[in-house]
Amino acid sequence: MFESKTVELTINRQKIKVHGFSTGAVKVKTKFLEASKKGLFAQLDIILNRAFTEWLPVWVWVIEHPEGIYVIDAGITNNTTNPTYFKALGFFSNWVNTTLFKFKVSRQEEIDKQLESINISTNSIKALILTHLHIDHILGIKHFSKAEILVNRMEWNKPSGDVPKLYPQWFQPVLSDLDEKYGTFNNARYLTKAKDLVLIHTPGHTHGHCSVLLNTDQGNILFAGDICYYQQQLFNDKYAGANISAGEIKDTYKRVLAFAAQSKLIFLPSHDKEAAMRLEALSPLV
Ligand SMILES: [Zn+2]
Repeated sequence: MFESKTVELTINRQKIKVHGFSTGAVKVKTKFLEASKKGLFAQLDIILNRAFTEWLPVWVWVIEHPEGIYVIDAGITNNTTNPTYFKALGFFSNWVNTTLFKFKVSRQEEIDKQLESINISTNSIKALILTHLHIDHILGIKHFSKAEILVNRMEWNKPSGDVPKLYPQWFQPVLSDLDEKYGTFNNARYLTKAKDLVLIHTPGHTHGHCSVLLNTDQGNILFAGDICYYQQQLFNDKYAGANISAGEIKDTYKRVLAFAAQSKLIFLPSHDKEAAMRLEALSPLV
């Protein structure tokens, strides 16, 4: 439903490739995508809201970098289309996941199969980096039992709701402390020796939410997770209904826009249907 895209770029004139794959599609309540009220009222609004959005992508990004292959987020799996799958989470989470969201994903759309289509095995990657621990970003980890998986320590220490019940038993990620500054961001960590791939704390959607920045000769690419759901929200002061902190997300928007004012930034949220097209066209945030 959402076409995969690949772009060839360079880092210090060395060729790299970046791919965007959508692992199926998701629908959320329209007030989840964009709130018209604040705080608890926004949450109540989501519950009372009857309208769903159109199908949205669940992007997973793959970077073929000189230091190895990095995968950003693991996407959803087709278990989510099984009506009893979320029952293990207990009454409330089952209700949330079966009432507030709709999932559409075939086995072929899961991330391991999409990697196979470009001759990459999940066992051969350098690291899987998770922006945050929500189901639509982590269910595909089941295909990465032999890979190094990176998570912000703050996100791991404060997971949201019942999500840990869905972790595979072997799941024990490497926890990152984000104690360096990068551009307009106060908490970051370099992921490559070349310092061109950076994990950046962009809180608000969850307290430990991170984005990943790739610095190429053609500009910076920010794999933005769930900072917002489509790029224009940043400019219109529009916020998702599901943010955990209004203050944090406001500050994150400000830092992203300040960064983009200083250098070319291609901004790619996980559920933005235009994100992979912007990657291909290298369209900056304007
Ligand atoms: Zn998400």
